[in-house]
Amino acid sequence: MYLGCHLSAAKGMCSMVQTARSIGANTFAYFTRNPRGSRAKREDPADIQAAGEAMAALSFGPLVAHGSYTMNLSTADPEDRAFAASVLAEDLARVAALPGNFYNFHPGSHVGQGTQAGIEQVAQALRTAMAPNYPVTVLLETMAGKGSELGGRFEELRAILDAVGRKDLGVCLDTCHVWDAGYDIQNHLDAVLEAFDRIIGLDRLKALHLNDSKNPLGSRKDRHARIGEGYLGIETFRAVVCHPALKDLPMILETPNELPGYQAEIKLLRGLDTKS
Ligand code: FE
Ligand code: FE
Ligand code: ZN
Repeated sequence: MYLGCHLSAAKGMCSMVQTARSIGANTFAYFTRNPRGSRAKREDPADIQAAGEAMAALSFGPLVAHGSYTMNLSTADPEDRAFAASVLAEDLARVAALPGNFYNFHPGSHVGQGTQAGIEQVAQALRTAMAPNYPVTVLLETMAGKGSELGGRFEELRAILDAVGRKDLGVCLDTCHVWDAGYDIQNHLDAVLEAFDRIIGLDRLKALHLNDSKNPLGSRKDRHARIGEGYLGIETFRAVVCHPALKDLPMILETPNELPGYQAEIKLLRGLDTKS
């Protein structure tokens, strides 16, 4: 089981590998720049190479870098959209230093111009930013469907994938988000995954965000709770981490915790898989 959480990127990649290891994690996520959107400093190639070697030695699963929350590729304002596109291009250039890992981002909000226009704009930005043999798989995150947010329906993610037309584009499923969007993974996990497979294809599912939800099914709120302390409950997470279609994917916690809390959740989740 590849389990981890969001880590601070302030001290570089090697430091994140060591921190992950110290809390029992064997993958992690990090923001490619700080969440307020200011410019991240340049990486040190020696640090990145050493981190890659340490990850291989420790049998880490793929990392799941996370694009800035403020990057909205489908905003109505052309200037803001151009800025978001430049952020995406810069992020993709940066994470390419660690081939074989993942870069996940929020498709964005169309803010009134309509779902179709938003989908076209995200797709356009991806077509422009992804080089032909790009070494990192780019993931669209399933969203809660708050306001005019894109990605709350599997059909919207499928439309973006189709409009981009590349095989190296995938999806990261966030348990809190799909629940808030109305997919009942608590009582009908298999049916939700069947729908995902029918609409998107399970071969496109590359990573999970494990979060409980502070709100009931279909609330479209997007407020994360600690594992077992929200509406989803611990048995939902047992089913998720043991599911044959999910158990080998990197799973990232984004619960309201500091490191000791993440360490406890990782231990809890590993204990739920009774077959390993
Ligand atoms: Fe996210
Ligand atoms: Fe998430
Ligand atoms: Zn969220």
